[in-house]
Parts: sequence; C-alpha cells; structure tokens
Amino acid sequence: MITIITNNELSTGIETSKRADGRAFDELRPIKIEAGVLKRADGSAYLELGGNKILVAVYGPRELHIRRLMQPNRAVLRCRYNMAPFSVDGRKRPGPDRRSVEISKITSEALSPAVFLEKFPRSTIDVFIEVLEAEGGTRCAGITAASVALADAGVPMRDIIVSCAAGKADGQVVLDLSETEDKEGEADMPIAIMPRTGEITLLQSDGHLTSEEFEKALDLAINGCKKISEEQKKAILSRYG
Ligand code: UDP
Repeated sequence: MITIITNNELSTGIETSKRADGRAFDELRPIKIEAGVLKRADGSAYLELGGNKILVAVYGPRELHIRRLMQPNRAVLRCRYNMAPFSVDGRKRPGPDRRSVEISKITSEALSPAVFLEKFPRSTIDVFIEVLEAEGGTRCAGITAASVALADAGVPMRDIIVSCAAGKADGQVVLDLSETEDKEGEADMPIAIMPRTGEITLLQSDGHLTSEEFEKALDLAINGCKKISEEQKKAILSRYG
C-alpha cells in the first residue's frame, strides 16, 4: 500500500510517495562496506546494501596460463558473479546460468575502464563476487564491492568505480530498487560510473521509461553513486588511513 505524504511533484509530473519499505524516492537502503576481510585473497571486500550481502575476493595481477585468453599488451579482468544456493527464497540451482554469465560479463566491462590493464601484459586479474543474500540490485552491489576489493589488492586504478540503480516502481521514479520494486516495478536501470569524471561505464535498462523519466532516473542513479562512493572511500581509508 502506498501512503501519499507530499504533494511535491517530480519533474516527471509524478506525485512522490513513501515506498513500501518506507524510503523516500531518492533514498538508498542502508549500506555498509568493509575492505580486507579475507586473509588469503590479494584483496577483498564485504558489502551490505539493504538485504544484500556480498563478498568479493580479488587475485592478481598474476600470470595467465590460458593462451587463448592471453592479451599480449594488457591484462584481462575476469569476473565471476555467483549466487549462493541459499541467497534467495527457494533454492538457487548451483552453478552458472545465463543471468550470472551476463552479470559477470557486464561487471568486467564496467570495471575495466578504471584499471590500468596495460601495465600488466599477458596477465589476469580475477574477481570473484559471491552473493550470500540477495534482495534486488546485486549486480550494482557486486560492482561497488569489487571496486573496493580491487583497491584493497593494490591494483592500480584511475578511479574507484561505483554502481547503483534507479528505476520506476508504483508509478514513481525511485533510487535503488528493492527486490519487490525490481520484480513488480515498471523499470530498472543499473548504472556504474567513474565518480571523478562522471564517465558512465555501465548503463542497462529493463522495462519502460519515458525520456523525461529516463533523465530523472539517471540523475537519481548518479547522485546515489556519489553517496555510495563516499562509503567506498571510508572503507578503504579505515583499512589504510
Ligand atoms: N533473484 C532471485 N532468484 C534468482 C535471481 C534473482 O530471487 O535466481 C532475485 C534477487 O533478489 C535479485 C533480484 O531477483 O537481486 C533481481 O534480479 P535481477 O536479475 O534484476 O538482478 P539484480 O537486480 O540483482 O542485479
């Protein structure tokens, strides 16, 4: 049920109302990030965003032994996104599926522009993203955590990539969709950016947004990214500061 709490109008002309979980349209779920949580990995991070719990381990840069993957002039950034069987209601069948292969690919593409891959020819940097509990927006949360884990591993980077989604649920353009908003809502638009330059390294869109709603969602997602970016910096500083 939606409680109308204000008559404010968004630029989309849609009334703003509190969301099912009580958040305002531009409010993130509670977030917590910790760097350096795994002893054996070169870099690691743990992130909670609302009901999402995500662990990331980074290995490398290290020599790549698979010739067909090897790049003579740069490293490859291999990402594996995996959902634990117990991470969702019911049981997620273990092992890769179409969705996890897609998310692994877009994660690598979202992170790669920030990494000085050219410094490590014929090498690999491996990023393992384990979703322990999922509650909508795991691809964004995974990218955000992976970036902190890469920094923790000391991988040279131009910037710490940050990711966040906006979309439309219950007729309203909102930031950081929950699982219910993601599944029952009208649109979901995950983005990733380099916060210093604002360069967008990921933009996906599922569902329907008018061009006005798209602009509003993009603004919300960019502002959400900026807030999350502060949490990433705090996590890195509290480990190394
Ligand atoms: N989900 C699920 N079972 C699955 C895959 C996803 O219950 O096999 C849930 C999970 O909470 C996830 C949400 O559906 O976060 C939305 O999934 P989507 O594919 O949109 O990716 P995400 O929003 O997590 O990036």
